[in-house]
Amino acid sequence: MKAIDRLTADALIIGGSHAGLSAALTLYRSVHTTVIFDNNMPRNSYATAVRHTSTWEGRTPAEMREASRKELVSTGLTTFVDATAESVLRTSEGLFEVTDNTGSRWQGRTLLLATGSTDIFPDLEGYLDLYTRGMYVLFSEKRVRTAS
Ligand SMILES: Cc1cc2nc3c(=O)[nH]c(=O)nc-3n(C[C@H](O)[C@H](O)[C@H](O)COP(=O)(O)OP(=O)(O)OC[C@H]3O[C@@H](n4cnc5c(N)ncnc54)[C@H](O)[C@@H]3O)c2cc1C
Repeated sequence: MKAIDRLTADALIIGGSHAGLSAALTLYRSVHTTVIFDNNMPRNSYATAVRHTSTWEGRTPAEMREASRKELVSTGLTTFVDATAESVLRTSEGLFEVTDNTGSRWQGRTLLLATGSTDIFPDLEGYLDLYTRGMYVLFSEKRVRTAS
């Protein structure tokens, strides 16, 4: 699928990390087409391994996302746009129209926001340097690291 004037997707999904990918997979099962916008800034982009997800233990979140992308591309129903969704408007026909940061416009019948959340770090010197390398957000991560 190419940017519009073109085809109307069943759903435009802003955010192509775990939530957006899972949504697209669910929609594919109902034979719905999706366009996923992602600018590759997932919350777990720090040096960290996947935990609590059966069969992915210890691998990187990027590997997991890449596998999911391949799976979705192979369905032929999902299009990935590696760009920032900059604005959304409602057209007079009731469609959602996303404009990305390359200026391309995309239309869809529904809009799904999977943009994640942003961490606000304490203003402590060295905190970010140690984040996930000694300063753990997940207690279970600390236990795994200190046990090994
Ligand atoms: C250090 C750390 C370790 C973690 N480890 C684990 C773990 O081991 N196991 C586990 O289950 N969970 C873990 N988590 C939690 C997990 O990372 C989050 O639950 C998960 O990333 C949430 O997924 P999401 O899709 O909701 O949001 P995100 O992963 O934050 O993804 C949002 C996506 O939307 C994109 N985006 C946002 N706005 C736009 C826009 N306007 N246009 C285009 N793209 C946009 C971003 O670039 C990003 O890719 C960890 C979190 C952290 C911080």
